[in-house]
Amino acid sequence: MIEEKGILFILSGPSGVGKGTVRKELFEQKTDLKYSISMTTREKRPGEIDGIDYFYKTNEEFEKLIQEDKLLEYAKFVNNYYGTPKEYVEETLAKGHDVFLEIEVQGAMQVKKNFPEGVFIFLFPPSLEELKNRIVNRGTETEELILNRLKEARNEIEMMDAYDYVVVNDDVEKAVSKIQSIIQSEHCKRERI
Ligand code: 5GP
Repeated sequence: MIEEKGILFILSGPSGVGKGTVRKELFEQKTDLKYSISMTTREKRPGEIDGIDYFYKTNEEFEKLIQEDKLLEYAKFVNNYYGTPKEYVEETLAKGHDVFLEIEVQGAMQVKKNFPEGVFIFLFPPSLEELKNRIVNRGTETEELILNRLKEARNEIEMMDAYDYVVVNDDVEKAVSKIQSIIQSEHCKRERI
């Protein structure tokens, strides 16, 4: 079988839908996937580790990365920058590994321009009410931030049609299992003798 380059998978969807939880569970089960750790200017949350959850940058450092064209995509989300390191993704794919991004919608749309062959998965909340509960229950944000995140979520849901797959996250195990199936079928699509 000939399969040279790895496949780029992009998991996206509104804030609070559970992208992080689904991604972490997927990586527990699927150790051959490579996760691209993002850069961000947002404050570290309790328990997060620099170089594992994110690479934490100052505004100046982040803007330098933009100017030097070191990011595959970036977006400003609720007043902070988030971005994907370009070199890591390109080199890892070239080595034949699959790369997995977990990013918000504006960034995913930029990746779609540069990497139309990527596989775009939209994680959908069971309902907007449930999404609000999840953001509130996380308890790490002020009321203003919660409202901003909800507003952003409504805009993000409007972009769903641009994705290849939609996975409803009513149950983490089920969502992970669907993503595993997507990964498998995308490999079958590309297999040639
Ligand atoms: P959080 O602050 O909750 O960790 O992340 C906020 C949002 O930014 C989430 O929707 C998350 O998926 C997204 N995000 C994380 N890393 C990146 C990235 O590199 N680029 C973009 N565009 N969004 C990201």
